Amino acid sequence: MSLGFDACGFAAATPVDDQAVARYDQWIEAGHNGCMAWATGHRDLRHDPALLLEGAKTVISLALNYYPARFQPEGTLRVAYYAYGRDYHEVLREKMTELAHFIEENTHCPTRPCVDSAPVRERYWAQQAGIGFVGRNNCLIIPGKGSFFFLGEIITTAQLPPDEPCTMTCGDCGKCVEACPTGALVQEGGADASRCLSCLLIEDHADHLPDWVADVIGDRVVGCDDCQLCCPHNVHATATTVEDFAMTDAVMTLTRDRIAQMSNSDFRRTFAHSAISRLRPATLRRNAALTTPHLPINNKKNR
Ligand code: SF4
Ligand code: SF4
Repeated sequence: MSLGFDACGFAAATPVDDQAVARYDQWIEAGHNGCMAWATGHRDLRHDPALLLEGAKTVISLALNYYPARFQPEGTLRVAYYAYGRDYHEVLREKMTELAHFIEENTHCPTRPCVDSAPVRERYWAQQAGIGFVGRNNCLIIPGKGSFFFLGEIITTAQLPPDEPCTMTCGDCGKCVEACPTGALVQEGGADASRCLSCLLIEDHADHLPDWVADVIGDRVVGCDDCQLCCPHNVHATATTVEDFAMTDAVMTLTRDRIAQMSNSDFRRTFAHSAISRLRPATLRRNAALTTPHLPINNKKNR
């Protein structure tokens, strides 16, 4: 069976280690979850896979490349790469459900696939399963492949041989800290989501964003990839072969005028199977109105 995942690793489904739990708690206490109120909930489930699947023995961590083969043309508003094509939740769920069935048939052990559908520390598990390490930009970095990967987990009661955790680090790089337009990465211990455009432009549905956003938003309308584009580990990123992740016509032609004219029903039709559907139509219009689209799109990786 070939489902096209780019990386896969196994980790023993023990509770998340104390250090990682403490880092998460400090991030919440500092208010760095910003508008992501959901991050404060389900603390127990988030830190023990056995509470998500009784008798859990293994967390299978999976990664799927979404680095695009082509980029948006000038004059369009910038969409983060992960939202170029079909909603990754749908794509990963299909692939992981198939894999979960295969595991169940062959081991007779129950499984629980998770794609943002349960409180799981996905980058922690990817690191434990030896797939990569968590960079200063808060992304999972796969050595030699980069960070433009969707992650998913299958929790199972099957006892599979655990991989060695990845022990790599960023060293003294710091390029993403410099590249971040908002200072969201200045502090240690995770991004400050209250200053991160990726969070503010997608998860914050307030009528008005803080005034300073207009000074830094540039041509970004959905998310922000800057702390990944500058990362040396993405120099060798190669285009995804998953057709579902190819850029849709809607993203290809997403101008400020197009968004201004988009009705709510047009939005729902246009982005029905896109991760952009996670925004509200009014949120997309709010973002577009703040942009300064005369600034050129910079899709070039920093080599
Ligand atoms: S996504 Fe953008 S705003 Fe958020 S930390 Fe990265 S560079 Fe900064
Ligand atoms: S840019 Fe440098 S510091 Fe930031 S995640 Fe990449 S390697 Fe780490």
